[in-house]
Amino acid sequence: TTPIETLEFQSEARQLLQLMIHSIYSNKDTFLRELVSNASDALDKLRLESYRDKDLDADTSDLHVTIETDPAERTLTVRDNGIGMTRDEVIALIGTIAKSGTADFLTKLKEAKDAAASQDLIGQFGVGFYASFMVADKVTLVTRRAGTTEGVRWESTGEGTYTIQEIEDAPQGTAVTLHLKPEDAEDHLYDYTSPAKIREIVKKYSDFITWPIRMTGEGEGEDAKAETVNSMKALWARSSSEVTEDEYHEFYKHVSHDWQDPLETIRLQAEGTFEYQALLFLPSRAPMDLFMRERKRGVQLYVKRVFIMDDCESLVPEYLRFVKGVVDAQDLSLNVSREILQQDRQIQLIRRRLVKKVLSTVKTMMTADAEKYATFWQEFGRAVKEGLLDDFENREAILEISSFASTQDAEKPTSLRAYVERMKDGQQHIYYMTGESRSAIENSPHMEAFRAKGYEVLVLTDPIDEMWVDAVPGFDGKQFQSIAKGQVDLESDEDKKATEVAREQQKKDFESLLTWMATALGDTVKEVRLSSRLTTSPACIVGDTHDLTPTLEKMYRAMGQ
Ligand code: ADP
Ligand code: MG
Repeated sequence: TTPIETLEFQSEARQLLQLMIHSIYSNKDTFLRELVSNASDALDKLRLESYRDKDLDADTSDLHVTIETDPAERTLTVRDNGIGMTRDEVIALIGTIAKSGTADFLTKLKEAKDAAASQDLIGQFGVGFYASFMVADKVTLVTRRAGTTEGVRWESTGEGTYTIQEIEDAPQGTAVTLHLKPEDAEDHLYDYTSPAKIREIVKKYSDFITWPIRMTGEGEGEDAKAETVNSMKALWARSSSEVTEDEYHEFYKHVSHDWQDPLETIRLQAEGTFEYQALLFLPSRAPMDLFMRERKRGVQLYVKRVFIMDDCESLVPEYLRFVKGVVDAQDLSLNVSREILQQDRQIQLIRRRLVKKVLSTVKTMMTADAEKYATFWQEFGRAVKEGLLDDFENREAILEISSFASTQDAEKPTSLRAYVERMKDGQQHIYYMTGESRSAIENSPHMEAFRAKGYEVLVLTDPIDEMWVDAVPGFDGKQFQSIAKGQVDLESDEDKKATEVAREQQKKDFESLLTWMATALGDTVKEVRLSSRLTTSPACIVGDTHDLTPTLEKMYRAMGQ
C-alpha cells in the first residue's frame, strides 16, 4: 500500500472551512445541492471529453449520480461516474480556493458585524464542496480520473489538514462520503440518513439536473431497486408556463455557483433554420470580482442539450459580464472551440440578440419595478456604462437604461429621459460635472451659475464616467456638456445683447489686471479671462473643451503616462 500523506489546506481554504464547521449558514440542506451540482458537472465534462477524444479509455454507457444513505454508520455518499480527479487535481481543486475575489471576501467576512451579515456574504460567495462541513465532521472523497488507473483517497475533518493516498481499484469518477455530525442525530430536520429527506432535498434543489440521480429503495440487497429521483428535464427546453420560479432559481444557483436568488430571469427562443434557446439571469448582487482582470465571464454553452463549455465569452460582451445562464444551440458542432466561436456567425447573431434582450428587459424593469431596477443599477451600472464606449450599436439603448446622480435629488438618481423632460426653457444641453465625490462637485465654483439658473447638473463620480462623456455625443438630440470645460453659454439671446455692451466695458476696465495676472501666472495657465458664470466665488480654474479633466489627468499620471 502507498503511504498516507498529510497536507495543509491553503490559508483561505482553512478560514472558509472554519466557517462551515461552525455552521454560520442556516440552510444546511444546501450542502447536497453543491455535491450534486459538482457530480453533474463531472458527468458533463466526461461526456464532452469522450466526444472529443475518441481514444479516452472511459465508460460513458450509463452516466449518473447515486446517493446512498447508511443510518447505522450515519453516512451519506454522493457518487458519480464522471470525469474524476487526479491526485494533483484533488490538491489543487479541493485543497485550495482559486476563486478570484477570495481575499476580498474573507476581509469583508472578518468585518461582518453579526451572523446575519456573515450569512449574507457566504451566500454571495458560494462555498461549493466545503458546504459538506456544515453537516459532516469528516469527509472522505475517493476519486479516479477517467482514462487513468490510479485512484486517490482524500480525507479531512476540515481542521487545517487533510490526508491523501493513492489507492487501487477506485471506480471511475468520484464518491464523496459524509460522516454526519453526531450532534444532528436527534434532530429530524437534519436527518440526512433518511431517504425521504434526501429525496425531498433533491427534488427541491436539483430536479432539473439532466443526469439521473438515483437512490436505492428501502429494500435490502438485490431487492433494493435504484430509482431516479429527479425529473431530468432541461429547464430551457420546457415551456415557460410549466416551470416554477423556484425551479428557475435553483437552476440559476447551479449554473452560477451563486447561493442567492437571481434578480431577474430572461428566456429567449429562436426557431426555424437556426434554432436556439437561452435561459439567462441577472444576479441580485455583483460578484466580488466584477472589476478584477482575471475574472471569468460568459454563459454556459450547450449544443443539442450537451454541455460544451462554461464561461463562453463569445456570447456576451464584456460590459454584460455579470449575466449568467445557458445558451443551447441546435446547429453547432460538438467540437466547437473558443477560437472557432469567436468567428462564428451564428454565435454573433445569438450574442446580438442576447444583448438586445438584456437591455430591453432592464428597460421594462425601470417602469415595471423601479425598486428592482434601482438594485440592478446599483450593482451593475458601473459595468453597463462601459458599454457606452464599446457597443456603438446599442449606445442609445444603454443611455436609455442608465441613471445618474444629479443635483435634482440627492437621494435618487435620474434617468436621462427624466432629465430631458425637466430641462428648463432655453436650456440646450445636458449638463454634467465629473469629479471624485458628490460633495466636491456640489461645492465647485463651476456649479454656481447653474444653481442660480435652476439648471440641473448630472453629478458623475465613477471613473468610467470620465471616459464615456467624451465618447458619447448626446442623448435624444441633446449634447452632453461639462460645466467645467470651455465657455458655457447660459444666456438667452436677449440677455446676451443687453450684457454685451457692459461686458465690453468690463473688459476694458480689467484689461491691465488680466494682462498682469496672465504674466504673473506664466506657463501654468493658457489664458486669464473674465467669466460670466461665477456668482459668489471670485475666480475659478477651467479646462479647455478638449482638455483632460483633473480626475482623468490624475488617473493617467497614476498609470505613469
Ligand atoms: P465550484 O463547483 O464552484 O468550482 P466546488 O468547491 O464545488 O467549486 O468544487 C471545486 C472543484 O473541485 C470543482 O470545480 C471541480 O473541478 C472539482 N470537483 C468537485 N467535485 C467534483 C466531482 N464530483 N468530480 C470531479 N471534480 C470535482
Ligand atoms: Mg461546485
